[in-house]
Amino acid sequence: MVAAGKARVDSPPLTLPFDGGGKGGGGVNAGRRVSGDSTPPQPLPIKGRGLEPIWAVLESVPDPEIPVLSIVDLGIVRAVEAERVVLTPTYTGCPATQVIERDVRAALDAAGYRRVRIETALSPAWTTDWITPVGRAKLHAYGIAPPTAPGQGTPECPRCGSAHTDEISRFGSTPCKSLWRCLDCAEPFDLFKCH
Ligand SMILES: [Zn+2]
Repeated sequence: MVAAGKARVDSPPLTLPFDGGGKGGGGVNAGRRVSGDSTPPQPLPIKGRGLEPIWAVLESVPDPEIPVLSIVDLGIVRAVEAERVVLTPTYTGCPATQVIERDVRAALDAAGYRRVRIETALSPAWTTDWITPVGRAKLHAYGIAPPTAPGQGTPECPRCGSAHTDEISRFGSTPCKSLWRCLDCAEPFDLFKCH
């Protein structure tokens, strides 16, 4: 028996690389709201056996644009094997890509995995569907609306949950986000949109 509805995220307490800036103190409570329902089909990354320590290293590497997410949450780690790690960049030309590769190299080296190569796979292309349920919950807790599926309509306000939202600008604080505003609570928020 699996106690559904009691989704608990087994991740260590989040340590934010920077102070959230005090916007509403939006408590980073990533353990909530892991919706077990509409999980989109996603190609699962290849997890070689006995490689948990390397996964743990990768989970410590934050996405440079959204540091609340690790690159594992983001779904760009496609395979971990004894001698290589395969990454799929979020989208070609994303300036974060090189930063991520550099950070992964540094993290692997620091953990003693100098012999592990980093390879890049461009196909299949990353989509926002690959963001893990944990990653979506973290985005939401951080006040960024997780990406919406095509035809799903406007994103929900991460603050009050209203679907009564309006796009202010196609480009938010980074190219991967657009800026929206909630018409009910009047709060602006970022929508993660790259796919
Ligand atoms: Zn709202």
